[in-house]
Parts: sequence; C-alpha cells; structure tokens
Amino acid sequence: MKKSVLMLSVSALAAVVSFNVWAEDKKVHQDLLDKYKPEQVAEHVYVIQGPMGYPDKENQGFMNNPGFIVTDKEVAVIDPGSSSAIGRSVLAHIRKVTDKPITKVFTTHVHGDHWLGNQAFKEDNADVKFYAHPTMIEEATNGAAETWIDTMNSMTENATEGTEAIIPTETLANGQEIEVGDLKLKAHIIEGKAHTATDVMFEVVGEKVLFTGDNINNKRIVRMDDGSFVGSIKAAEVAMELDVDKVVPGHGPIGSKNVLSYYHDYLSKVYNSVKEMREEMEAHEMKPKVEEQAADFKDWQGYEEELGKHISLSVLEAEQEDF
Ligand SMILES: [Zn+2]
Repeated sequence: MKKSVLMLSVSALAAVVSFNVWAEDKKVHQDLLDKYKPEQVAEHVYVIQGPMGYPDKENQGFMNNPGFIVTDKEVAVIDPGSSSAIGRSVLAHIRKVTDKPITKVFTTHVHGDHWLGNQAFKEDNADVKFYAHPTMIEEATNGAAETWIDTMNSMTENATEGTEAIIPTETLANGQEIEVGDLKLKAHIIEGKAHTATDVMFEVVGEKVLFTGDNINNKRIVRMDDGSFVGSIKAAEVAMELDVDKVVPGHGPIGSKNVLSYYHDYLSKVYNSVKEMREEMEAHEMKPKVEEQAADFKDWQGYEEELGKHISLSVLEAEQEDF
C-alpha cells in the first residue's frame, strides 16, 4: 500500500515536472487561442483578424492579421505574428481547419510583429520553407532580428520571452508565383521603399485576395519611420490595379478593395497638402492645415502619434523630389 502511494506520488510529480517544462518551452498565446477564430475570406483563404494597438503586456504582442491558405496538398502561412507563443496559437487554429502539412511561410516585411511567430512552424515541420524580400533577409540577418526580439520583449514586459528569430531563406522577386497546392501566390514588390525597403504584397491568384502587409492599414495610421510616402502611395496604386476583391491589411479590419483607396487617400492628402504649403511655411506650422485635409482619418488608431512624423517625412521627400 505504502509503495503504491509512493509510486503514485512519484508519477504525479513527473507529470507536473514535464507539464512545466512544456509550458516553459512551448508557451501558447491563450487569448488568441480562446477569443479569436479564423475567418474564411475566400474558398481556400483564412485570416485571424488581430486587435489593433501597439505591443504591450496585455496583448502580449498580438496585433496583426495572420493568414493561411489551405489546399488539398499543403498549407501556407502569411505573417504568423510577433512571438513563438502567437505562432503556436496560429498553428493550433490551423489544425482545427486542416491536418495537411504546413510547408511554406511568407513574410510581408522585416517588422517583428509580422514574422517572429515563424519559430512555431519550424518546430512543427523541420522542412518548412520561409520566404521574404531579399532585403528583409539581409536586414534581419544584420541586426534587425535581434533588435525586434528585444523590442517585443520590452514592450510586452517579457510576454514574448523565449522567442527565437527564424529568418527566412527563400528570396522573392516581383511577379514571382509560388505554388501552394494547386493555387498560386504572387509576390508584388515595388522598387525602393514603401512602408519599408522589404515589403512584399501577396495576391492569392484566383481567390482575389490580397495580403498587403503594412503598405496598407485599415482604421490605423501606420508608422513610417523606415518608409517613404512617395513609395507608399505607389504601392497603394499598384495594389489598386490588381484584380482582387478582398483586402487583408497589415493591421486593422479585413475589407473590400475600398480599403486600398481609403489608405491611398490618407497618404496622398497628407503628402499633397504638405507639398503645396512647404514654400510658405515650416513643417510645424503645417499641422492644422494637414489636419483639415485629413479630417476623415482623425479617429484612426495611431493618428495622434504619427501625423506629425508623417508631415516631417513628407516635407523631406517633397524637397528631394525637386532635385
Ligand atoms: Zn510594419
């Protein structure tokens, strides 16, 4: 009797220990698992529409729109989020839809809130391939990966701790089509900088869905610290030419093609009003006038933080355009 009690307690202890090891190493993002559900936006395309905001302790870094494409043969993922825990929860959601192997993961750009979830897919399948813009791979390798790991950790008060950067290895070129089962994913890249110098927009050919990355946001004004106004306007114009009717922005609600023209409207209103005024006044004097022009966007998340910086960048680029 005594012996069996002892054995029971030993095995119970072992179970607790192994559970803790698992919890430490393979942490999931519980809120993402419990409170979110993939939305089927086309026959083969699903998106988990994330919350808006900046990474913090509460959202544990989850703030983007991870997507996945399910075919009879294989599954591809686009932008699995900010951390290994987020990636694992995205993976768990995929597994509720399909048991096909996840073979390809695509990154829209170098910002860590879009791709640090890659690790989960490497854990799931050692042969998975990670695709990105060649400059994304270069920047990530040369320090951006480490910087993003640190930034996420400090902004979320260590909620993303344990995340390893799995940097893509497969480079993409403009117009390139990658097979996902019997579907094709087409890469759209504009030369130079748009939101960053690393952006790829992904069109799911035949399904009329476009993943824009942060070239386009919806109901949110995006940081442009690494980007270009002129390039972002051009990227929006390239996107508007495509034969798509569902748009998945980098952040904010999924919508129709109007999502592209709204964002284009914001970008061009700011840039054009700055261009008109810059002969007569300094950047800091322009704000009230630009605010009048961009009044439709004043409720968008990030407007307060970004508008001033967007005006300064526009002034700089408008000056460069003159040369
Ligand atoms: Zn970004």
